[in-house]
Amino acid sequence: MTKDLYEILGVGEKSTPDELRRAYRTLAKKNHPDTNPDNSAAEERFKRISDAYDILGNPEKREQYDLMRRSGHNPFSGDGSGSEGFGDLSDILRSMFGGGGGNPFSGRGSTSRGASQVEIEIPFVTAAKGGTVQRILRLPVICHKCKGVGGSGQETCASCRGAGRISSGQGFFSTMHPCANCGGRGYTLKKKCSTCGGAGEVQSNEKVSLRIPPGASDGTALRTSIEGNAVLVRLRVKSDRFFTRQGRDLLCNVTVTAAQAVLGASLMVRTLDGKVKLRIKPGTQPGSILRMRGKGVVHNGVTGDQLVSVVVKLPVNLTDDQRSLWIKIKESGS
Ligand SMILES: [Zn+2]
Ligand SMILES: [Zn+2]
Repeated sequence: MTKDLYEILGVGEKSTPDELRRAYRTLAKKNHPDTNPDNSAAEERFKRISDAYDILGNPEKREQYDLMRRSGHNPFSGDGSGSEGFGDLSDILRSMFGGGGGNPFSGRGSTSRGASQVEIEIPFVTAAKGGTVQRILRLPVICHKCKGVGGSGQETCASCRGAGRISSGQGFFSTMHPCANCGGRGYTLKKKCSTCGGAGEVQSNEKVSLRIPPGASDGTALRTSIEGNAVLVRLRVKSDRFFTRQGRDLLCNVTVTAAQAVLGASLMVRTLDGKVKLRIKPGTQPGSILRMRGKGVVHNGVTGDQLVSVVVKLPVNLTDDQRSLWIKIKESGS
């Protein structure tokens, strides 16, 4: 099974965004779980196609991916361990944008030393629909006194000869680690900056406005730039009292009375876009699942459904009148 994102979408590496989108749409349609019920192979393909488009459909991520691919280090190439797991997008982003194995893009010679990572909590509906959130994040920013240099009297580091990284020679992500002597900067300093103590950066509270893409899920990583620093923001999605999510679909329960289930009813049900009328057909059984098409989460141009599970609440404390009515129903044989 190929792990090359271009091969997954069946396009060449020079394909235009338009060609990519068309290839993605065609494949996504063909392998969509709705058109392939109970076909786990198609479902897996669908997931891989979506993941591939998540990266290649985003110019910035595509550029990063191309860089790695051209350097012969496909971040998704198999390692012979027999694992066919493609990993979810967050794994891919983690391997692409750092965390764990070190950031292969961390600049040397610039003040940026790889992405800082922060976690933020966002409401369920914001994650599902997308939107903007404002947060105050405590982040390392470039020290204004030394402009990120860390001090004065720069000398090329003797250990790494200015590379900032030292190779240990096995596999891409394990090969490079920051030089301990210079902290990965490639130079040492005669005199450290009094403001940042030589770090080149200071902790600061930054007001940040983040655009959350529709269909973001728990663990989704967003890459952004704050005060000139690359920041990887990992999303923690709060749970919702009413909704849960299953991919693009939203699941929820509605409660009806016995009479409503038997005779039918019209209910107002909460959706991502406010309340919508839902018809309960006469004779609806407890546990029935009603599909509200197109009321789910939009992700990569595909919209999910809202699946409503019907809970029937039976009466407990009956009045004498009600009791005699139920006895009549019972005697009628229903
Ligand atoms: Zn400083
Ligand atoms: Zn060094």
